Amino acid sequence: MLDVAVIGAGHAGLCVVEALRRRGIDATVFDDAARLGDVWRRRYDALILNTRRDPSSIPGVDVPETMGQWPGKEEWADHIEHAADILGVERIVERINSIRRLDDVWELSSHTGVHCSRVVVVATGRNHRPVVPPWPGIDDSPIELLHAASFRRPDQFVGRRLLVVGAGNSGVEIAHLCSAAGIRTTISIERRPVFARREFLGTDLTSAAQRASHLPDRLVDLAGRILQFLLFGRLRKYRLGPPEMRLSNVAEASGASLDSGFVADVKAGRIDVVDAVDRFDGSDVVTRSGTRIAVDVVIAATGYSPALDPLMPSEARVAGWPRAKEAPWMSAPDLYTAGLNPATLTAFHPDFISEADEIAQDIADRRA
Ligand SMILES: Cc1cc2nc3c(=O)[nH]c(=O)nc-3n(C[C@H](O)[C@H](O)[C@H](O)COP(=O)(O)OP(=O)(O)OC[C@H]3O[C@@H](n4cnc5c(N)ncnc54)[C@H](O)[C@@H]3O)c2cc1C
Repeated sequence: MLDVAVIGAGHAGLCVVEALRRRGIDATVFDDAARLGDVWRRRYDALILNTRRDPSSIPGVDVPETMGQWPGKEEWADHIEHAADILGVERIVERINSIRRLDDVWELSSHTGVHCSRVVVVATGRNHRPVVPPWPGIDDSPIELLHAASFRRPDQFVGRRLLVVGAGNSGVEIAHLCSAAGIRTTISIERRPVFARREFLGTDLTSAAQRASHLPDRLVDLAGRILQFLLFGRLRKYRLGPPEMRLSNVAEASGASLDSGFVADVKAGRIDVVDAVDRFDGSDVVTRSGTRIAVDVVIAATGYSPALDPLMPSEARVAGWPRAKEAPWMSAPDLYTAGLNPATLTAFHPDFISEADEIAQDIADRRA
């Protein structure tokens, strides 16, 4: 019988392991990755984190000075692996397929067998399964379709006409990287985000957004629009403004897309902007307004699902996300989730640290 099982040794899971350790509680850690940090290693080559190193690093784990304030994805992957070593995590390399209640314990099933645990923390990541909308006509189209999760670098698309769908962080960066490589690039935007940059006047925007989350919604939304105007001027004639997403809506916290050259590309006519994709029609993509674009490749930067079905029991899920029962991070008795709460800003590394503290304290309090 296990005491506490943590499923997933990414940033969120390791923060929980560390917070439990400080309270004298040891956890058994399951993670199916060949190498910890592989979630990051699989992402596109040019990826630089949009959260600063210092507020993000896992408590008690030094980050090398050489990393710089904005870590690259390989450095961050190594940090995750290093953190697990420093914390002395001896993980069990198994994929947990399902969790179910058996009397007063949780039963975890993997392909090798079952484990029973009094307490379970699910930290399997909100960006787990790439989501591609079921656009009509895809199956009969010769257009190559891939999700942003499979994009590595632009060179494989040189000489081909590209449509990027989605203007979140991944979409705008991939469009910029491809345009900079000379690829004829169009972007399809369904709802305009707030365009911003990692830093403004020496403040990083992730931290600013977290501080601003306590302000009235109207003020936060206004601040987003003013910031966009100060950084980029009027964007309406480029079809990039005004924002349709609201910064104050925490479910849309990623409604701010961080620019590393995308807006300048659009202004200079190197990237075309069209509205939402309606369907594929042969070798064309047709948008909702009826615009027809002939393309060779579509990259769907259309988000992820946490893929908790069937991992979490159905009574602990709602619409694909953990059900917040007694607290945002508790879905059922002794069943916690870390890094998976859709109703707060816990999409960011600094949030994982405070969330892990709350979870560990709750586990400690209940056994006191
Ligand atoms: C392109 C991209 C860029 C991003 N950039 C940032 C950024 O700059 N800053 C930021 O704060 N966030 C960023 N994010 C969000 C980012 O994914 C998370 O912040 C962070 O990696 C999530 O950590 P996590 O521990 O919750 O999940 P993950 O890092 O996904 O870790 C989950 C772990 O669980 C393991 N696992 C999953 N399922 C199972 C299972 N069933 N059994 C056993 N093990 C399992 C996986 O192998 C993995 O090791 C980005 C996301 C994407 C897609």
